[in-house]
Amino acid sequence: MALYPSNLNKLVTEVYSDAVTKGNVIQFDSTSKYLKTSNSKESGLKYQLTYCDIDTQKPTKPERKEVIEKNFNPFLASEPELTVLENVMEDKYKLVLNKFPIVAEHLLLVTKKHEPQASLLNPNDLNAAFQLLKTLQGEVDDNDESDDDEEDDDEKPKSRYALFYNCGPNSGFSIDHKHMQIIKLPRKLKTFQDYAVQENPEPFIPNVKREALEYEAVAFANFTIPLPQSIKDEDYLVMCYVNLLQRALSYFQQWEETDSGKRLQPSYSFIMTSDWMSIIPRSSESAEIEFDGKAYNIATNAVGYLHMLLFKNEQKELFDKILEQKDSTAVEDLLLKCGFPNNFNAAPSENDY
Ligand code: AMP
Repeated sequence: MALYPSNLNKLVTEVYSDAVTKGNVIQFDSTSKYLKTSNSKESGLKYQLTYCDIDTQKPTKPERKEVIEKNFNPFLASEPELTVLENVMEDKYKLVLNKFPIVAEHLLLVTKKHEPQASLLNPNDLNAAFQLLKTLQGEVDDNDESDDDEEDDDEKPKSRYALFYNCGPNSGFSIDHKHMQIIKLPRKLKTFQDYAVQENPEPFIPNVKREALEYEAVAFANFTIPLPQSIKDEDYLVMCYVNLLQRALSYFQQWEETDSGKRLQPSYSFIMTSDWMSIIPRSSESAEIEFDGKAYNIATNAVGYLHMLLFKNEQKELFDKILEQKDSTAVEDLLLKCGFPNNFNAAPSENDY
Protein backbone atom coordinates (compact mmCIF):
# COMPACT_ATOMS: atom_id res chain seq x y z
CA MET A 1 0.00 0.00 0.00
CA ALA A 2 1.35 3.38 -1.00
CA LEU A 3 1.83 5.79 1.90
CA TYR A 4 1.46 8.91 -0.21
CA PRO A 5 -0.91 9.91 -3.01
CA SER A 6 0.61 9.56 -6.49
CA ASN A 7 -0.23 13.23 -7.24
CA LEU A 8 1.83 14.42 -4.26
CA ASN A 9 4.04 16.79 -6.30
CA LYS A 10 0.99 18.56 -7.67
CA LEU A 11 -0.53 18.81 -4.22
CA VAL A 12 2.67 20.28 -2.75
CA THR A 13 2.85 22.89 -5.51
CA GLU A 14 -0.79 23.87 -5.02
CA VAL A 15 -0.60 24.18 -1.23
CA TYR A 16 2.71 26.04 -1.51
CA SER A 17 1.51 28.58 -4.12
CA ASP A 18 -1.61 29.24 -2.13
CA ALA A 19 0.33 29.67 1.13
CA VAL A 20 2.83 32.07 -0.48
CA THR A 21 0.05 34.11 -2.11
CA LYS A 22 -1.82 34.45 1.18
CA GLY A 23 1.34 35.26 3.14
CA ASN A 24 1.23 32.09 5.23
CA VAL A 25 4.62 31.03 3.91
CA ILE A 26 7.36 33.66 3.85
CA GLN A 27 9.80 32.66 1.14
CA PHE A 28 13.04 34.60 1.42
CA ASP A 29 14.75 35.98 -1.67
CA SER A 30 18.31 34.77 -1.98
CA THR A 31 21.25 34.62 -4.40
CA SER A 32 23.18 31.43 -5.05
CA LYS A 33 26.57 30.91 -6.69
CA TYR A 34 28.71 27.85 -7.25
CA LEU A 35 32.27 27.77 -5.99
CA LYS A 36 34.83 25.21 -7.11
CA THR A 37 36.95 23.96 -4.29
CA SER A 38 40.43 25.51 -4.18
CA ASN A 39 41.67 22.60 -2.06
CA SER A 40 43.71 20.31 -4.29
CA LYS A 41 42.74 17.25 -2.25
CA GLU A 42 39.06 17.86 -2.90
CA SER A 43 39.81 18.47 -6.60
CA GLY A 44 36.46 18.19 -8.45
CA LEU A 45 34.10 19.19 -5.60
CA LYS A 46 31.88 22.26 -5.79
CA TYR A 47 29.87 24.13 -3.19
CA GLN A 48 26.72 26.14 -3.62
CA LEU A 49 26.92 29.36 -1.59
CA THR A 50 23.68 31.20 -0.90
CA TYR A 51 23.36 34.69 0.47
CA CYS A 52 20.09 35.64 2.13
CA ASP A 53 19.50 38.78 4.19
CA ILE A 54 17.02 36.96 6.39
CA ASP A 55 17.09 39.54 9.17
CA THR A 56 16.08 42.32 6.77
CA GLN A 57 13.33 40.33 5.06
CA LYS A 58 11.92 38.60 8.13
CA PRO A 59 8.72 40.26 9.27
CA THR A 60 8.51 40.66 13.01
CA LYS A 61 6.08 37.82 13.21
CA PRO A 62 4.69 36.83 16.57
CA GLU A 63 5.29 33.16 15.60
CA ARG A 64 9.04 33.69 15.57
CA LYS A 65 9.07 35.48 18.90
CA GLU A 66 6.93 32.78 20.44
CA VAL A 67 9.25 30.05 19.19
CA ILE A 68 12.24 31.73 20.75
CA GLU A 69 10.75 33.19 23.92
CA LYS A 70 8.06 30.82 25.08
CA ASN A 71 9.22 27.46 23.81
CA PHE A 72 6.15 27.50 21.61
CA ASN A 73 5.95 24.30 19.55
CA PRO A 74 4.47 25.10 16.11
CA PHE A 75 4.40 21.42 15.18
CA LEU A 76 1.81 20.63 17.85
CA ALA A 77 -0.40 23.46 16.64
CA SER A 78 -2.81 22.91 13.78
CA GLU A 79 -1.68 24.85 10.71
CA PRO A 80 -4.10 23.86 7.94
CA GLU A 81 -2.75 26.55 5.60
CA LEU A 82 0.69 24.89 5.74
CA THR A 83 -0.49 21.29 5.75
CA VAL A 84 0.01 19.14 2.66
CA LEU A 85 -1.04 15.83 4.26
CA GLU A 86 -2.68 15.76 7.67
CA ASN A 87 -2.35 12.03 8.13
CA VAL A 88 0.61 9.92 7.03
CA MET A 89 1.14 6.28 8.11
CA GLU A 90 -1.92 5.84 10.32
CA ASP A 91 -1.64 9.34 11.72
CA LYS A 92 1.96 8.97 12.89
CA TYR A 93 3.09 11.99 10.85
CA LYS A 94 1.90 15.06 9.03
CA LEU A 95 3.56 16.56 5.98
CA VAL A 96 3.75 20.35 6.23
CA LEU A 97 5.43 23.25 4.48
CA ASN A 98 8.33 25.04 6.08
CA LYS A 99 6.87 28.42 7.00
CA PHE A 100 10.15 30.29 6.39
CA PRO A 101 11.83 28.57 3.46
CA ILE A 102 14.85 29.64 1.47
CA VAL A 103 14.28 26.82 -1.02
CA ALA A 104 10.77 26.68 -2.53
CA GLU A 105 8.48 23.82 -1.44
CA HIS A 106 10.67 22.90 1.53
CA LEU A 107 8.73 20.15 3.33
CA LEU A 108 8.75 18.85 6.88
CA LEU A 109 7.67 15.35 7.88
CA VAL A 110 6.67 15.90 11.48
CA THR A 111 5.61 13.38 14.15
CA LYS A 112 2.05 13.95 15.36
CA LYS A 113 3.03 13.30 18.96
CA HIS A 114 5.89 15.19 20.50
CA GLU A 115 9.27 13.46 20.44
CA PRO A 116 12.56 15.22 21.10
CA GLN A 117 14.77 16.05 18.13
CA ALA A 118 17.59 14.06 19.77
CA SER A 119 15.61 10.81 19.42
CA LEU A 120 16.84 8.09 17.12
CA LEU A 121 15.06 7.53 13.84
CA ASN A 122 12.86 4.45 14.16
CA PRO A 123 11.83 1.98 11.43
CA ASN A 124 8.62 3.94 10.67
CA ASP A 125 10.54 7.20 10.33
CA LEU A 126 13.00 5.65 7.90
CA ASN A 127 10.39 3.90 5.77
CA ALA A 128 8.09 6.95 5.69
CA ALA A 129 11.12 9.06 4.69
CA PHE A 130 12.31 6.75 1.92
CA GLN A 131 8.85 6.38 0.43
CA LEU A 132 8.44 10.14 0.49
CA LEU A 133 11.65 10.58 -1.52
CA LYS A 134 10.55 7.93 -3.99
CA THR A 135 7.04 9.39 -4.35
CA LEU A 136 8.33 12.92 -4.95
CA GLN A 137 10.73 11.55 -7.56
CA GLY A 138 7.93 9.60 -9.23
CA GLU A 139 9.69 6.28 -8.55
CA VAL A 140 7.12 4.37 -6.55
CA ASP A 141 7.14 0.82 -7.89
CA ASP A 142 3.78 -0.10 -6.43
CA ASN A 143 1.92 -1.85 -9.28
CA ASP A 144 -1.58 -0.90 -8.24
CA GLU A 145 -0.67 2.78 -8.14
CA SER A 146 0.69 3.01 -11.69
CA ASP A 147 -2.64 3.79 -13.43
CA ASP A 148 -2.22 7.45 -14.20
CA ASP A 149 1.57 7.38 -14.38
CA GLU A 150 1.74 6.98 -18.13
CA GLU A 151 1.64 10.65 -18.96
CA ASP A 152 4.54 11.21 -16.52
CA ASP A 153 6.73 8.77 -18.42
CA ASP A 154 7.62 11.29 -21.12
CA GLU A 155 10.88 13.17 -21.31
CA LYS A 156 10.49 15.42 -18.24
CA PRO A 157 13.84 15.71 -16.47
CA LYS A 158 13.48 14.18 -13.04
CA SER A 159 14.00 16.21 -9.90
CA ARG A 160 16.14 14.84 -7.15
CA TYR A 161 15.31 15.26 -3.47
CA ALA A 162 17.21 14.94 -0.20
CA LEU A 163 15.77 14.25 3.21
CA PHE A 164 17.66 15.30 6.32
CA TYR A 165 17.38 15.04 10.07
CA ASN A 166 19.36 17.36 12.34
CA CYS A 167 19.80 15.14 15.37
CA GLY A 168 21.17 16.23 18.74
CA PRO A 169 22.12 19.56 20.30
CA ASN A 170 25.11 20.27 18.01
CA SER A 171 23.33 19.48 14.76
CA GLY A 172 21.78 22.92 14.19
CA PHE A 173 18.04 22.35 14.71
CA SER A 174 15.77 25.11 15.98
CA ILE A 175 12.55 23.32 16.96
CA ASP A 176 12.83 20.49 19.47
CA HIS A 177 10.12 18.28 18.02
CA LYS A 178 11.03 15.35 15.78
CA HIS A 179 10.96 16.57 12.19
CA MET A 180 12.65 15.31 9.05
CA GLN A 181 13.02 17.80 6.21
CA ILE A 182 12.86 17.35 2.46
CA ILE A 183 14.19 19.69 -0.21
CA LYS A 184 14.55 19.49 -3.96
CA LEU A 185 18.25 19.47 -4.86
CA PRO A 186 19.66 21.96 -7.37
CA ARG A 187 20.25 20.22 -10.71
CA LYS A 188 23.98 20.96 -10.83
CA LEU A 189 24.66 19.84 -7.29
CA LYS A 190 26.95 16.85 -6.83
CA THR A 191 27.86 16.07 -3.25
CA PHE A 192 30.73 14.10 -1.75
CA GLN A 193 28.24 11.29 -1.08
CA ASP A 194 27.42 11.20 -4.81
CA TYR A 195 31.11 10.84 -5.61
CA ALA A 196 31.57 8.16 -2.95
CA VAL A 197 28.66 6.17 -4.35
CA GLN A 198 29.77 6.74 -7.93
CA GLU A 199 33.05 5.03 -7.05
CA ASN A 200 31.24 2.20 -5.18
CA PRO A 201 27.77 1.95 -6.69
CA GLU A 202 26.92 -1.56 -5.58
CA PRO A 203 24.42 -1.47 -2.66
CA PHE A 204 25.45 -3.32 0.48
CA ILE A 205 24.60 -3.45 4.17
CA PRO A 206 27.85 -2.91 6.06
CA ASN A 207 29.09 -5.67 8.33
CA VAL A 208 32.35 -6.57 10.10
CA LYS A 209 33.96 -7.42 6.78
CA ARG A 210 32.83 -4.41 4.79
CA GLU A 211 32.37 -1.01 6.35
CA ALA A 212 30.38 2.02 5.22
CA LEU A 213 32.08 4.25 2.66
CA GLU A 214 34.24 7.09 3.98
CA TYR A 215 35.01 9.76 1.42
CA GLU A 216 38.63 10.64 2.03
CA ALA A 217 39.00 13.88 0.08
CA VAL A 218 36.85 15.96 2.45
CA ALA A 219 38.32 17.04 5.79
CA PHE A 220 35.40 15.96 8.02
CA ALA A 221 34.46 12.44 9.17
CA ASN A 222 31.65 10.98 7.07
CA PHE A 223 29.93 7.63 6.55
CA THR A 224 27.79 6.72 3.53
CA ILE A 225 25.98 3.59 2.31
CA PRO A 226 24.81 3.14 -1.30
CA LEU A 227 21.13 2.15 -1.43
CA PRO A 228 19.35 -0.14 -3.89
CA GLN A 229 16.78 1.24 -6.35
CA SER A 230 13.96 -0.61 -4.69
CA ILE A 231 13.67 -1.69 -1.05
CA LYS A 232 11.07 -4.28 -0.12
CA ASP A 233 12.47 -5.42 3.23
CA GLU A 234 11.21 -3.05 5.95
CA ASP A 235 14.34 -3.69 8.01
CA TYR A 236 16.79 -2.79 5.26
CA LEU A 237 17.00 0.94 6.02
CA VAL A 238 17.10 0.25 9.75
CA MET A 239 20.15 -1.98 9.34
CA CYS A 240 21.89 0.74 7.32
CA TYR A 241 20.99 3.47 9.81
CA VAL A 242 22.09 1.44 12.85
CA ASN A 243 25.39 0.73 11.19
CA LEU A 244 26.02 4.40 10.41
CA LEU A 245 24.98 5.34 13.91
CA GLN A 246 27.44 2.87 15.40
CA ARG A 247 30.21 4.37 13.31
CA ALA A 248 29.28 7.88 14.40
CA LEU A 249 29.00 6.91 18.06
CA SER A 250 32.30 5.07 18.06
CA TYR A 251 33.77 8.26 16.65
CA PHE A 252 32.47 10.16 19.68
CA GLN A 253 34.01 7.51 21.92
CA GLN A 254 37.37 7.85 20.22
CA TRP A 255 37.18 11.62 20.40
CA GLU A 256 36.44 11.62 24.10
CA GLU A 257 39.38 9.34 24.73
CA THR A 258 41.86 11.55 22.89
CA ASP A 259 40.39 14.87 23.97
CA SER A 260 39.20 13.99 27.44
CA GLY A 261 38.53 17.59 28.48
CA LYS A 262 35.66 17.75 26.04
CA ARG A 263 32.40 15.95 26.69
CA LEU A 264 29.98 16.17 23.81
CA GLN A 265 26.45 14.91 23.51
CA PRO A 266 26.13 12.78 20.38
CA SER A 267 24.85 14.86 17.46
CA TYR A 268 24.85 14.11 13.77
CA SER A 269 23.54 15.18 10.41
CA PHE A 270 21.51 12.38 8.84
CA ILE A 271 20.96 12.75 5.08
CA MET A 272 19.25 10.38 2.68
CA THR A 273 18.57 10.48 -1.05
CA SER A 274 17.13 7.63 -3.09
CA ASP A 275 20.77 6.66 -3.87
CA TRP A 276 22.45 6.74 -0.49
CA MET A 277 22.16 7.21 3.28
CA SER A 278 24.80 9.25 5.08
CA ILE A 279 25.72 10.34 8.61
CA ILE A 280 28.16 13.09 9.54
CA PRO A 281 28.98 13.21 13.27
CA ARG A 282 28.71 16.81 14.54
CA SER A 283 30.75 18.59 17.18
CA SER A 284 29.11 22.01 16.85
CA GLU A 285 26.27 23.82 15.07
CA SER A 286 28.48 26.83 14.29
CA ALA A 287 32.12 27.81 14.10
CA GLU A 288 34.35 30.83 13.99
CA ILE A 289 35.99 31.08 10.59
CA GLU A 290 38.85 33.40 9.68
CA PHE A 291 39.14 34.94 6.26
CA ASP A 292 41.45 37.78 5.21
CA GLY A 293 42.38 38.34 8.84
CA LYS A 294 38.76 38.78 9.99
CA ALA A 295 36.67 36.38 12.08
CA TYR A 296 33.10 35.37 11.20
CA ASN A 297 30.68 33.11 13.01
CA ILE A 298 28.67 30.81 10.75
CA ALA A 299 26.22 28.02 11.50
CA THR A 300 25.24 25.05 9.42
CA ASN A 301 22.84 22.16 9.72
CA ALA A 302 22.79 19.01 7.58
CA VAL A 303 22.33 21.11 4.44
CA GLY A 304 25.97 22.27 4.67
CA TYR A 305 26.99 18.63 4.28
CA LEU A 306 24.99 18.63 1.05
CA HIS A 307 27.46 21.30 -0.14
CA MET A 308 24.86 24.05 0.31
CA LEU A 309 26.09 26.85 2.57
CA LEU A 310 23.97 29.69 3.81
CA PHE A 311 25.37 33.16 4.51
CA LYS A 312 23.17 35.63 6.41
CA ASN A 313 23.25 39.43 6.79
CA GLU A 314 26.39 39.70 8.89
CA GLN A 315 28.25 37.27 6.61
CA LYS A 316 27.69 39.21 3.36
CA GLU A 317 31.27 40.46 3.30
CA LEU A 318 32.58 36.91 3.72
CA PHE A 319 30.25 35.60 0.98
CA ASP A 320 31.48 38.29 -1.44
CA LYS A 321 35.16 37.83 -0.60
CA ILE A 322 35.09 34.05 -0.92
CA LEU A 323 33.53 34.30 -4.38
CA GLU A 324 35.77 37.16 -5.48
CA GLN A 325 38.92 35.34 -4.43
CA LYS A 326 37.58 31.92 -5.49
CA ASP A 327 38.94 30.61 -2.21
CA SER A 328 36.95 27.79 -0.61
CA THR A 329 39.07 27.32 2.53
CA ALA A 330 36.53 29.09 4.76
CA VAL A 331 33.83 26.64 3.65
CA GLU A 332 36.07 23.64 4.26
CA ASP A 333 37.10 25.04 7.65
CA LEU A 334 33.48 25.48 8.65
CA LEU A 335 32.50 21.93 7.70
CA LEU A 336 35.51 20.52 9.53
CA LYS A 337 35.03 22.62 12.68
CA CYS A 338 31.34 21.68 12.89
CA GLY A 339 32.20 18.00 12.37
CA PHE A 340 35.21 15.89 13.33
CA PRO A 341 38.49 15.29 11.51
CA ASN A 342 38.26 12.62 8.88
CA ASN A 343 40.36 9.76 10.22
CA PHE A 344 40.07 7.80 7.02
CA ASN A 345 43.37 6.04 7.50
CA ALA A 346 43.07 5.36 11.22
CA ALA A 347 42.93 1.73 12.29
CA PRO A 348 39.43 0.77 13.48
CA SER A 349 39.26 0.93 17.26
CA GLU A 350 38.60 -2.21 19.27
CA ASN A 351 35.62 -0.41 20.74
CA ASP A 352 33.85 -0.32 17.38
CA TYR A 353 30.69 -2.42 17.27
P1 AMP B 1 15.21 23.23 12.12
O1 AMP B 1 15.66 24.66 12.22
O2 AMP B 1 16.19 22.34 11.46
O3 AMP B 1 14.75 22.69 13.44
O4 AMP B 1 13.95 23.21 11.17
C1 AMP B 1 12.72 23.78 11.55
C2 AMP B 1 12.19 24.55 10.38
O5 AMP B 1 10.83 24.84 10.67
C3 AMP B 1 12.89 25.87 10.15
O6 AMP B 1 13.46 25.86 8.85
C4 AMP B 1 11.80 26.94 10.28
O7 AMP B 1 11.87 27.86 9.21
C5 AMP B 1 10.54 26.14 10.17
N1 AMP B 1 9.41 26.70 10.94
C6 AMP B 1 9.43 27.59 11.94
N2 AMP B 1 8.16 27.85 12.39
C7 AMP B 1 7.33 27.09 11.65
C8 AMP B 1 5.93 26.89 11.61
N3 AMP B 1 5.11 27.56 12.42
N4 AMP B 1 5.43 26.01 10.71
C9 AMP B 1 6.24 25.35 9.86
N5 AMP B 1 7.57 25.50 9.85
C10 AMP B 1 8.12 26.35 10.72
